[in-house]
Amino acid sequence: MIRESARVVIVGSGMGGGTLAWGLAQRGIDTLVLERGSVLPREAENWSPEAVFTDRRYKPAETWLDDDGEEFHPGVHYVVGGNTKVYGASLPRFRERDFARTEYPSGVSPAWPFAYADLEPYYVQAESLYRVHGSTGEDPTEPWRSRPFPFPALPHEPYVEETMARLSAQGLHPSSTAMGIDLRPGGGCVRCQTCDGFPCRLGAKSDSETCALGPALAGGSVRLLTDARVTRLELGPDGRIARLIGECSGEPLVVEGSTFVLSAGAANSAALLMASRTSDHPTGLANSSGLVGRNYMVHNNTHIATIDPRRVNDVVFQKTMCVNDFYNDLGDGYPGGALQAIGKVQGSMMKTHATRVPRKVLDRMAGRSMEWVVMTEDTPSVHNRVTVDQDGRIRVSWRRTNYDRHEVFLAKVRSLLRKAGYTAIFEQRFSIDMNSHMCGTAVAGTDPSASVLDPWCRSHDIANLLVVDSAFFPSSAAQNPALTIAAQALRVAAETDWEKVAA
Ligand SMILES: Cc1cc2nc3c(=O)[nH]c(=O)nc-3n(C[C@H](O)[C@H](O)[C@H](O)COP(=O)(O)OP(=O)(O)OC[C@H]3O[C@@H](n4cnc5c(N)ncnc54)[C@H](O)[C@@H]3O)c2cc1C
Ligand code: SF4
Repeated sequence: MIRESARVVIVGSGMGGGTLAWGLAQRGIDTLVLERGSVLPREAENWSPEAVFTDRRYKPAETWLDDDGEEFHPGVHYVVGGNTKVYGASLPRFRERDFARTEYPSGVSPAWPFAYADLEPYYVQAESLYRVHGSTGEDPTEPWRSRPFPFPALPHEPYVEETMARLSAQGLHPSSTAMGIDLRPGGGCVRCQTCDGFPCRLGAKSDSETCALGPALAGGSVRLLTDARVTRLELGPDGRIARLIGECSGEPLVVEGSTFVLSAGAANSAALLMASRTSDHPTGLANSSGLVGRNYMVHNNTHIATIDPRRVNDVVFQKTMCVNDFYNDLGDGYPGGALQAIGKVQGSMMKTHATRVPRKVLDRMAGRSMEWVVMTEDTPSVHNRVTVDQDGRIRVSWRRTNYDRHEVFLAKVRSLLRKAGYTAIFEQRFSIDMNSHMCGTAVAGTDPSASVLDPWCRSHDIANLLVVDSAFFPSSAAQNPALTIAAQALRVAAETDWEKVAA
């Protein structure tokens, strides 16, 4: 039996947990991070498309179930740093509108319990921590900022520049993507072709292990226990969390503390609360609202590959531009979404989906294609939810919401890109297993009957319990989530009275 204790115990070391640990380290608070995975090794396979995409080297074998009981492989990575070890490091801020209630023709995106202005100082801090490179004055929808980006935007390669010029000629304002890679003077990034979706072999990607947890551990007040999987939270007689139960490297694990924070990712944090059900709490802990696990959102995303047969795409680092002209208004009074260039897809990566197409054909296509993600907001629904079976297995009930908006924006994007010279467009709509942007399973709010957490991610029901990961999002917006998760983690670390929470 392994016994541990700390003043604050964090479950999970991804964007939420790793960043919170950094924030607590700045305050010298005794903190233990429990991570079910190990440190992801730096090795040749980090940059091998076959190892990463075909062999799923860094993904768990675990499967989840859909509504019909069919198994699928979720988009999770159980390693130190969580999903940020392989993420695309695109780190935009949400727009001011994303924090307000927004009506769509067939759905409502609810307001957040705090405004952009409340999070802005922590966006500044998060951009500095995660070495964000970006520029201002290009994107008509960019939110106001009190400080410039810490580092200038990544330069665009000639192929991307030419595409931007073709979009500008249509009256659009293509802009630089805010990116977290270490291109500072003397930084370790070599701008390779295997960044988006791959771990960085050089440790130059701004993931939460590299930028937040590592420095936190160096400070001395934060400790990390790897291969430590929490399976259950237990209440004490006072109704507060008394201990966590789990296993560490095959041994039973018991961890005591004053305050407990779940940062296991939207699905796993909700699953842990439900798996901790008791006869007094039959639907799980912290669930007086009945909303734990519900309002599961993932974004409405489509990957598109666009081919201009007359232009060879020799780009190495493609993910430097985006188009947000239609983010707030598609021209009909309703928001559209974001169009972002993604990492250059290679023939071997296409093979994972186009299994029947010969590799030679895919390589030729990849040599003339540019790849994008079209991202629009999905709206919360109590019917979209995560549950756990008796044996602890995660089940996801999910139907697309607000999808008519996605179709309208996608049609607009197709027309813009055709005018930019892309005569062939291939689409891959995200399915249930492409849930890397999941959020919303323990929403924050001011009304305890309509939310699980307060605006600082503290449970309305259990005084010494917080959930600091993407689960707190009341709505999903249509921008990449990680910087907002980090900013909120820093806000929670700085603005929580940790003495009072523990008392
Ligand atoms: C391929 C890919 C590309 C992406 N690209 C981008 C991008 O460009 N920009 C962006 O903003 N976002 C991107 N994302 C999404 C982003 O990575 C996530 O939104 C973010 O990491 C979520 O943070 P989190 O703290 O909620 O969860 P995670 O970062 O997933 O962390 C959860 C952690 O908890 C651990 N854990 C889970 N259960 C337990 C347990 N029971 N006990 C102990 N530990 C546990 C996990 O191992 C993991 O380390 C991408 C994701 C993927 C997969
Ligand atoms: S582009 Fe830079 S940060 Fe990304 S994997 Fe390559 S070296 Fe690492």
